[in-house]
Amino acid sequence: MEYKEKYLPAARGLYNDFLKKNKMFFTKERAQLLDFIFEQKGHFSADELMFEMQKGDVKVSRATLYRSLSQMVEAGILGESDFGHGHTHYEVTVGTKPHVHLICTETGDVKEVQSRKLEDALDDLAMKEGFRIKRYKIQLFGVSKGTR
Ligand SMILES: [Zn+2]
Ligand SMILES: [Zn+2]
Repeated sequence: MEYKEKYLPAARGLYNDFLKKNKMFFTKERAQLLDFIFEQKGHFSADELMFEMQKGDVKVSRATLYRSLSQMVEAGILGESDFGHGHTHYEVTVGTKPHVHLICTETGDVKEVQSRKLEDALDDLAMKEGFRIKRYKIQLFGVSKGTR
């Protein structure tokens, strides 16, 4: 099944729960925005999203967009990361595996990697502290091979 079909309903559920808890409504505009976000590949900034939306027929004000993005982070639908570009990058985290970002400071390229060993180490660390990990965010800044 396609990723969007598979995970969008779960994301809608999370957003709806979040909005209800905060006495807000799952409006048509919010549903449309969430749907649009599920069309994005990988990481995107608010400005990139705004640009894509303006090309399409989704009309949302900048203020609404920023507010909605932070709501979706709180609802557990989006993750935010800082790649040292001076703006926040978002990515859908529903149905995706936690990963580490390798950020090349020369080219700005971002690579996603996963490590079972690292996850085990983090689980072990958390367990010793009586802590349950819900998500993690690890960014490594450096220079990739082949780049000076
Ligand atoms: Zn950027
Ligand atoms: Zn990522």
